[in-house]
Amino acid sequence: MKYASLEGAEFSQPIGKIVCIGRNYVEHIRELGNETPQSPVLFIKPTTSVVYDGGKVVIPGYSKECHHEAELALLIGKGGSGIAPEDVMTHIAGFGVAIDLTLRDVQAGLKQKGLPWEIAKGFDTACPLSGFTAVEKVPDPHNLRIRLWVNDELRQDGSTALMIHRIPEMVSYMSGIFTLEAGDIILTGTPAGVGPLFSGDRVTAEVEQVGRVTVQVI
Ligand code: ZN
Repeated sequence: MKYASLEGAEFSQPIGKIVCIGRNYVEHIRELGNETPQSPVLFIKPTTSVVYDGGKVVIPGYSKECHHEAELALLIGKGGSGIAPEDVMTHIAGFGVAIDLTLRDVQAGLKQKGLPWEIAKGFDTACPLSGFTAVEKVPDPHNLRIRLWVNDELRQDGSTALMIHRIPEMVSYMSGIFTLEAGDIILTGTPAGVGPLFSGDRVTAEVEQVGRVTVQVI
């Protein structure tokens, strides 16, 4: 079992599912040469992919290209299905930072064949995750600087202002497909600057006002 810790909460919350959106920042779509999708691209990471701050990442032997994707994470505090966009914020308990680790070479092969992405996105340690900051402490989640460093070198530097599908629409859409439950986590997509990680790298992702997560690639 994996847990999400929310600042100020008495107990850690068992994590349910982790619902992710792909291609949610224009510059990142361009850097991978993808098309902008008409409706959001969704996928799910298993809870077993979570690794906490200070943890270790293991790149699976079937890949030679593991990319980092720094993302703003949402912790669902109140479940629901078919949530209206204007009600979405009342379902979010906190904001966190995640790194959506992606085996880009494996994903490219799967995409070509029209196959699902799980083995590229859901492997053990594919989801480094920070603790969560209470939602009241982050007045405007659509205006936060999001950065990622590899061995202290800045690799990603974007803003959540550049999201294509913003949080209310994104979560409303997700909740029309997957009933959301307390403890579910949502990853909101990555800005430009993704790139490869290698054994020995130390990776830190940070979202201003929210927090940071650091992991070591072994
Ligand atoms: Zn991602």
